[in-house]
Amino acid sequence: MEKYTQNQLRSIAEECQEFEHIINAMGYGYSLLNVSAEDFSRRCTDCTNWLGGSCTIFQNEISQWK
Ligand code: SF4
Repeated sequence: MEKYTQNQLRSIAEECQEFEHIINAMGYGYSLLNVSAEDFSRRCTDCTNWLGGSCTIFQNEISQWK
């Protein structure tokens, strides 16, 4: 069960300056996986700062979600 919609997770991540993909942060890089960064869906749930939804940036954004 997802607490937030895919649309919310994507939209906030798209605007976010702090987005860091989990796979990239693990040190493998994108090239090893033979994909470009653009191939990754950019969602908050794939971000290292997500922390199960406790990211303060996300919480701030979601509180303003219309
Ligand atoms: S989880 Fe937080 S830091 Fe990561 S993209 Fe979403 S709002 Fe930005």
